[in-house]
Parts: sequence; C-alpha cells; structure tokens
Amino acid sequence: MLKQIYEKIKQYDTIVIARHIGVDPDALGSQFALKTAINIAFPEKKVFAVGTKSSRYNYFPKLDKYENKINDNVLLIVVDTPDKKRIDISNLDTFVNACKIDHHPFVEKLGELEYIDVNSSSASELVLRFLVENKMIINTEIAEYLYYGIVSDTNRFLFNTTPDTFKIVEWLTRTYNIDIEKIYRNLYARPFSEVRFQGYISENMTLTENGFAYVIISNDTLFKYGVDSSSAGNMVNNYNNIDEVIVWATVSEDAKNNQYKFNIRSRGPIINQVAEKYNGGGHKLASGARVNTLEEVQSLLNDLDDVCKNYNREENNKLLNERE
Ligand code: AMP
Repeated sequence: MLKQIYEKIKQYDTIVIARHIGVDPDALGSQFALKTAINIAFPEKKVFAVGTKSSRYNYFPKLDKYENKINDNVLLIVVDTPDKKRIDISNLDTFVNACKIDHHPFVEKLGELEYIDVNSSSASELVLRFLVENKMIINTEIAEYLYYGIVSDTNRFLFNTTPDTFKIVEWLTRTYNIDIEKIYRNLYARPFSEVRFQGYISENMTLTENGFAYVIISNDTLFKYGVDSSSAGNMVNNYNNIDEVIVWATVSEDAKNNQYKFNIRSRGPIINQVAEKYNGGGHKLASGARVNTLEEVQSLLNDLDDVCKNYNREENNKLLNERE
C-alpha cells in the first residue's frame, strides 16, 4: 500500500495534504514531513499543507492556503484522520482523488488507497515508514517533524509504544542531527496561566465511586484563568496514573461554537465507543467528542461512569474466577 500511494503521488502535479481539526503536533508533524519529503523528491510538483493555524504550534511552518475547484489533477492526502467530518479542509467534496495515512480505528473510507495501522504510535511513525519504504530523502528538518509527532502522540513513549517505535526512533535520532532539547522545550513550554489553571482542574475534579473523574469548565473560568477551550485538552494526559481514577474527562465550554468539548482518557475501560455515541471518536483509551447542550454533557458523563462501573464489575469477576 505504501508503494501504491507513492505511485499515486507521482501521477499528480498538485498534492494537498490535510489533517484533523483540533490540530496537534502529530497531525502537523506528519503533514509537514510528508510535504517536505515530496518537495525534495518532486521539486516540480506543487504541495500544499492545509488547515486552520494554531499559535500554540508556531514552531511548525505556516500552513498553506489552497482553494480547490473540481480538478482531476489534484491528489488529496489525509493524515491522522479517520472520518470525513474531522478533516480540516474546505470543499472536501471537490477532491476527486484522495488517499489516507492514519493510525486511528477505521471509521469510513475516503479513497481507494488507505494505509491504516491502529497499532502504530502515531501518524508520524506511519509517514516515516512511507518515506523509508519508498527510499525518499529524509533530512534533519523532516526527522524533527516526525520526532515531534511521535513523542507527543505517545506522550513521551508512554502510550502505543512498541519495540518497532523504539527501533525506528533509535534509527531516526542516530541518523539525523535532531535537536531533542529544542523539541521538548517547544512541546512542553507553557504559560504560567496554564499551570494555575491546572490547579483549578485538580481542585475541582469530581470523582465518582466507580473511578471516573471529570471537571466541567465554564467559559467564565477559562476567561478568569486567561486560557482557551483547548487548554484543558492539552493537560488531560497529566491525570493519568492516579490510583482512584480509571477514566477521566475534561469538559470545556467552547462559547465560540456554542458547544462543550470532551477530552477523555482511560487506563482500562474502552471509551471510544461511548464517544462515538455522541458523534465523537478516537482511540480505545484516548477519545473526544463535542456536544451541544448541558443535558448531553450529563448524559455522556453518565455513560462514562457506567463504563467504569461495568469494567470494575468485570475485573472483580475475573479476580474471583482466578481465586476459585
Ligand atoms: P484529544 O483529547 O483532542 O487529544 O483527542 C483524543 C483522540 O480523540 C484523538 O485521536 C482525536 O482524533 C479524537 N477526537 C477528539 N475529539 C473528537 C471528536 N469530536 N470526534 C471524533 N474524534 C475525536
């Protein structure tokens, strides 16, 4: 499949690379690594990396503007996004030719060529496989984009990290002169307002008897702490490995879109199926959703608590069976 995608790229003069809304370093890393590598391999092609910009990630290059009109000589490559509704692009329907490179569980087909590996750490790891498989030139710039993606999506090699991830990262860091300290500084530097805000989240989390912890953050609170609705999502991983908590969620009011944004994490119960019920999705243990009303917020919170309850019951049954 990786070779077929490469052959497809060869056929088109213009390549547009898109990724998901609610951008993160893996989406950007895979996007820019692919763009730069195609630029080097095929200097005559026009390559666009598109999507909404985010000042949080201004250590990545500027995104490109691209207005598509139905055009048969354009190839759309979507990275890190399993479903059409989450692709950060306008006029998706005008793209006739599309392929996908992704590590999310399959949601829907986009084009005839799709390379999906849910066991991969990140979309960046898959792009790296793509470049290696097709013997494309990798330079330090590309290697750094990929390193950003792999490190951030694995939360510094904590999640979805296999021996293959270490192998490929070992090779990447040994072969290219990656400035690891710069990368970690860019990824983890944060304003003091976010540290204070994290204090607010910790103080205000509700913990249920089933091991579900959550906090609802109003727009007023975001304003008071001087942070935006994406800030809670960026610190949700900090609540892992708490003895009493097996699933946790931040629910942030997004006043601009009149919605509530869920960032959900688990260290046991499968949560993406619950998120999907609310038009969300994601990985088994890291998911998200957006809902419109406080009733839906409460309903999703209840469902997540139920998932914890069932999980605890099953785990207890397993223990009892082992003892018998
Ligand atoms: P986040 O909490 O934003 O880091 O997202 C965790 C995972 O859930 C990622 O794989 C996202 O792609 C996915 N995700 C987040 N929000 C949504 C949503 N509204 N719909 C579908 N998937 C989502």
